Amino acid sequence: MMSSRFTAIKESQNRNAIAIQENGRRSDLFGVNVFNEKKMLQYLTKDAFEGLKGAMDSGSKIDRKIADQVAEAIKGWAISMGATHYTHWFQPLTGSTAEKHDAFFDLMPDGTALEKFGGGQLVQQEPDASSFPSGGIRNTFEARGYTAWDPSSPAFIYGTTLCIPTIFVSYTGEALDNKAPLLRALGAVDEAATAVAKYFDKTVTKVNATLGWEQEYFLIDKALAYSRPDIMMTGRTLVGETPAKGQQLDDHYFGVIPSRVLSFMSDLEKECTKLGIPVKTRHNEVAPNQFELAPVFEEANLAIDHNLLLMDVMDKIADKHHFKVLFHEKPFAGINGSGKHNNWSLQTNTGVNLLSPGSTPMKNLQFLTFFINTIKAVNTYEELLRSSIASASNDHRLGANEAPPAIFSIFVGTQLSNVLDELEGVSKGKLSPEEKTELKLNVVGKIPEILMDNTDRNRTSPFAFTGNKFEMRGVGSKTNCAKPMTILNTIVAKQLKDFKKEVDALVDKKNLKKDEAVFNVLREYIKTSKRIRFDGDGYSVEWENEAKRRKLSNNKNTPEALEVLTSKDSIALFESMDVMSEVEVGARQEVDLENYIMHLQIEGRVYNELVYGYILPSALEYQNKLIKNVSGLKEIYGAAHKKFTEGQLTMIEEIAEHVVSIKKMVDAMADARKKANALKDTKKKAKSYCFDVKPYFCEIRSHSDKLEKLMDNTLWPLTKYRELLFIE
Ligand code: ADP
Ligand code: MG
Repeated sequence: MMSSRFTAIKESQNRNAIAIQENGRRSDLFGVNVFNEKKMLQYLTKDAFEGLKGAMDSGSKIDRKIADQVAEAIKGWAISMGATHYTHWFQPLTGSTAEKHDAFFDLMPDGTALEKFGGGQLVQQEPDASSFPSGGIRNTFEARGYTAWDPSSPAFIYGTTLCIPTIFVSYTGEALDNKAPLLRALGAVDEAATAVAKYFDKTVTKVNATLGWEQEYFLIDKALAYSRPDIMMTGRTLVGETPAKGQQLDDHYFGVIPSRVLSFMSDLEKECTKLGIPVKTRHNEVAPNQFELAPVFEEANLAIDHNLLLMDVMDKIADKHHFKVLFHEKPFAGINGSGKHNNWSLQTNTGVNLLSPGSTPMKNLQFLTFFINTIKAVNTYEELLRSSIASASNDHRLGANEAPPAIFSIFVGTQLSNVLDELEGVSKGKLSPEEKTELKLNVVGKIPEILMDNTDRNRTSPFAFTGNKFEMRGVGSKTNCAKPMTILNTIVAKQLKDFKKEVDALVDKKNLKKDEAVFNVLREYIKTSKRIRFDGDGYSVEWENEAKRRKLSNNKNTPEALEVLTSKDSIALFESMDVMSEVEVGARQEVDLENYIMHLQIEGRVYNELVYGYILPSALEYQNKLIKNVSGLKEIYGAAHKKFTEGQLTMIEEIAEHVVSIKKMVDAMADARKKANALKDTKKKAKSYCFDVKPYFCEIRSHSDKLEKLMDNTLWPLTKYRELLFIE
């Protein structure tokens, strides 16, 4: 029987690009499947529209009468678009999204059929979601969970289903999902940032966090991906020898997009456009078969919904084009992995980007205020921010010299560093008229021109200022951005709140003018948050040593990175900002640890399967072939055989050595797993998986990769890297 590897190769070579019709302009297609403002105006009465719009903008509750009207309108629109079902669409703690479909169709007591969907169904639903992990919240409170409509993210139709974005909470109010804490964090940053923005412009009434993500991914032919049990079960290759040609030629980066991929991308972009996801750029990434997609930035909550939706749509469209899309952070050893940069900023309802320098000294002082407060927030809570991107799969990437290290630092560039250095010299207390003029003309006033030519972009920094936004680069490609965005917005909110208190105190008690007070507080912040600023090579050993001296955290694995979540300071932060209670934080830590454990457990089991089911049998088969050859030669040549069998005999021995070692390692790993599984405490269990089980993975892999190199190509059962990565 031909091995599934060769059948898959044959299948993949016979494929052609699917033709995608480009009919009409993308802008005409934008949002056709979304119940957006245009449709609201069309389908809602004026009262209902205003009620809904008010709730969307302020995050307030919607009264039942309006909910009924909105439901009726959405139903009318959805059915006219061919929808037959509706679902509350939510983000369980496990990472992706979940949905439970109900038909609009209903039967009346007299047996007549009709389509039903009222305010009740729109606003709240009780999915039987008891199997979603709740980190012990449900057990503690014996509470059921329900989903509740999030009107700030519009409903959309996907396939024939109307999807209503919702939060998932327990009846006692605890968040069981990733969206509820995010919305609270966005509320906190809105309140704190608006109060500070009012120093500079009294007309500001709301500040939105903005997010522009960049999604990296791999596309692998479906048949080839399916031929590898490790890719199917874990999303990555657990073994596999790096091919002779990897990414060292850099010939894939920004290169010509292969035709099958291009047609996948066109199809995907069309679907995204209909769903209101403003996709904009696409290009090849560094590694072979790796690509990136980025949209125009949006309000953070919406951007996150769109990223989650995108990942789902990508899966489906990829399948249609006979691809499997890999979101794993490190699907291939020795080749770059995938991340998801999070570009973040704050924007006022008056349309001003608070992290963008302006044309007047006052606007620049506003910029510096938000810029320096963000630096201070990250300095104080660097470890917490690191925890927000921790996962078993991202552990492969952080610190692997292709993604930023596990150490958080901020890149601001030489020019802004100089500005900060100068501001550090501002006098204490009141400023003389000369000093004020000097500051306005030569320090604050110079910023816009400076940034124009601030082109040095440090790719090794995990948190870089890029002209008018910060870019968080360590986020994993699979990660739900809600996690890092919840933490980032919470810490910035806390920082801005503290800042306002300090400035107000200087104005009230020390009689300083507002701008003097702002300069005074910022000066101190610059001094106290110096350790987080680093413009050098984040991949270098020197930086690792220097960071240690600066007492920055360097948590290289998930169990250690997650510890800080439940520290006294973290809980005080979350509670003071009304983002999460102690129970909610603990639950998240528990779920993340459980996830980590399960991830490694599955990988361990797949290693077992690979070794016993694939690698050992083929190694022995090849060894037998060699043995047969040697005995044949012996038969012919008798004692003189040595001249011809020397090479084969060494190979037989080499194979034997790898066979013995790999078997030993797999068995020892299974024992280590058993021991870890017996531990009751989740933290201890996660650490045991990290330190007692995981180290075997590399060893097993190393033996397997050596065997792969040594063996008859036709007998190797697992689809090789060059086949996975270079067949187009
Ligand atoms: P690059 O970093 O690749 O050179 P850009 O600087 O144009 O490209 O932007 C990268 C990403 O940053 C894009 O996804 C874009 O949507 C996002 N972005 C731009 N401005 C903002 C902003 N004010 N807030 C959040 N994201 C932004
Ligand atoms: Mg970028």
